[in-house]
Amino acid sequence: MNARKYLIAGNWKMNLNSAEGAELAAQVVSLFGQQTEVSVCVCPTFTALEAVSKVVNESNVQLGAQNMHFESSGAYTGEISPYMLRSLYCHFVILGHSERRAYFGETDAIINKKTRAALAASLTPIVCVGETIEERQAEKHMDVVRTQVQGSLAEIDAADLKKLVIAYEPVWAIGTGLTATPEQAQEMHAFIRSVLAGMANEDVAQSVRIQYGGSMKPSNAAELLAKPDIDGGLIGGAALEAKSFVELVRIAQQK
Ligand code: PEP
Repeated sequence: MNARKYLIAGNWKMNLNSAEGAELAAQVVSLFGQQTEVSVCVCPTFTALEAVSKVVNESNVQLGAQNMHFESSGAYTGEISPYMLRSLYCHFVILGHSERRAYFGETDAIINKKTRAALAASLTPIVCVGETIEERQAEKHMDVVRTQVQGSLAEIDAADLKKLVIAYEPVWAIGTGLTATPEQAQEMHAFIRSVLAGMANEDVAQSVRIQYGGSMKPSNAAELLAKPDIDGGLIGGAALEAKSFVELVRIAQQK
């Protein structure tokens, strides 16, 4: 048993408008708004952030965004700054999700700029890493994830590294119904801690929360969360329905 608190975060992706998001958030707040055993977070679209923020306000359910720009303001049409997220009381921001890497050309260098900007704005980054199926089949998954962790978290001091969250999300498991086995996930989480120890120190390696993401659902969560280096889940599909998301938080509470 480690001292790291589980973080169950729902990544709603490009789903749910403000009214729908507020309704789902209200159900989560009604059940988990007062508890403190597990960190619970919902990450709506930008346009639903304000409505959901009002619902989670003054509860223990935290708000996260799914992306941001690294500059604080300026001529960046269509972008959202860290300070705009802070002004809506966002606590977390997902950065470098594999969909951002694959469809929007985000590189480790860009993710690194965003991560540093988020920390400077007192947002907690959830930095996503993970290999494709081809990379795993070629047995390059460790190298790929090491490069992503080192690149995305470059030039961040130990005190700041301790504040952030990493999500290990094998690309082949996201939205596919395939899940990494608990052993595969544990192996990678322990490996990520060893990379963090090399970049900073053992204290950082043991402090950073590392979530698993990739088709996590009530039927597989207990086994994954039982692993010593898995500190929660970044949940896509199963976070869009109150029933399954609530069940996932309950499983984490029982651990
Ligand atoms: C995700 O998008 O971060 C994710 C893990 O999605 P899913 O749970 O649907 O695989």
